Amino acid sequence: MDQRRNRVDLHIHSTASDGALTPSEVVRLALERALSTIALTDHDTLGGVTEAQQAALGTGLEVIPGLEINSEGEWGDLHFLGYYVDPGNEPLREMLQAIRDARVERARRMVERLGKMGMPLKWEKVRASAGGDSIGRPHVAQALLNRGYVETLPEAFARFIGNDGPAYVPHLRFTPPEVIGAIREAGGVSVIAHPAHTGPEAVDRIPEFAAHGLGGVEVYYPHQPPEAIDRLLALCREHRLLATGGSDFHGSGVAGGTQLGSVHVPPECAERLRDAATAQRRTLEVSEA
Ligand code: AMP
Ligand code: FE
Ligand code: FE
Ligand code: ZN
Repeated sequence: MDQRRNRVDLHIHSTASDGALTPSEVVRLALERALSTIALTDHDTLGGVTEAQQAALGTGLEVIPGLEINSEGEWGDLHFLGYYVDPGNEPLREMLQAIRDARVERARRMVERLGKMGMPLKWEKVRASAGGDSIGRPHVAQALLNRGYVETLPEAFARFIGNDGPAYVPHLRFTPPEVIGAIREAGGVSVIAHPAHTGPEAVDRIPEFAAHGLGGVEVYYPHQPPEAIDRLLALCREHRLLATGGSDFHGSGVAGGTQLGSVHVPPECAERLRDAATAQRRTLEVSEA
């Protein structure tokens, strides 16, 4: 059997948010790389999922609907993935719309700050460069690069729009329990994204989030040392959480970025995720009946 047919990647961005490839192009690349299952997880939107699923029709590639939502509070900036959420769920739709509307205003304010710092950018152009639903800092960084104010995208973050940068403006963010709850109420499974990459505080909070209904932990992620993986797997076992994983792919040409399908994720992760989502939907149906 072709081993590669079992490769899965459950963390992928497209042009629906800040990725470089359209959802159809992501699917084409996943097929070229012989992946069997992918999840599209754009920032604050499910907007690319239908296109990806249509592009995958008849190919045997499974496309799991997903998204990534930032949260904050006393916990710092934590990211959560939501899988198999119902796109029609009204409370989740409202939350995502509020976050995306705030993203536009926030990007406009970052452009304004950069202008005051002597780096004028045309707001309409920056706005238009985000073709999908969800504008973000990569679009601002690209505009800085295009105008020659920086030489690389990471430089834009390091000097201007990184979390501590002089032109940074924060997101509208909900707290982790609110995000976990919204994903759950929408019939989805919530997974804390790259906790070891976010930092030790994120890992330490996993038991607390499990008590709030967290469904899983993104254990397999680029550049994770084996000790970090072991620690996360132990937490999953102790708190009955799923292990998931993915590359956080944003496009092949993204400096410092990882390649689609480049992280080893045991294929049973995708199967368990699917089973957990089915069980979660049943629980909701029973509680609504
Ligand atoms: P935002 O969601 O608008 O706050 O933008 C965050 C996104 O910017 C992340 O999801 C990455 O795609 C990208 N990003 C964050 N830090 C960097 C960095 N240092 N260099 C390049 N891209 C980055
Ligand atoms: Fe991103
Ligand atoms: Fe993230
Ligand atoms: Zn991501």
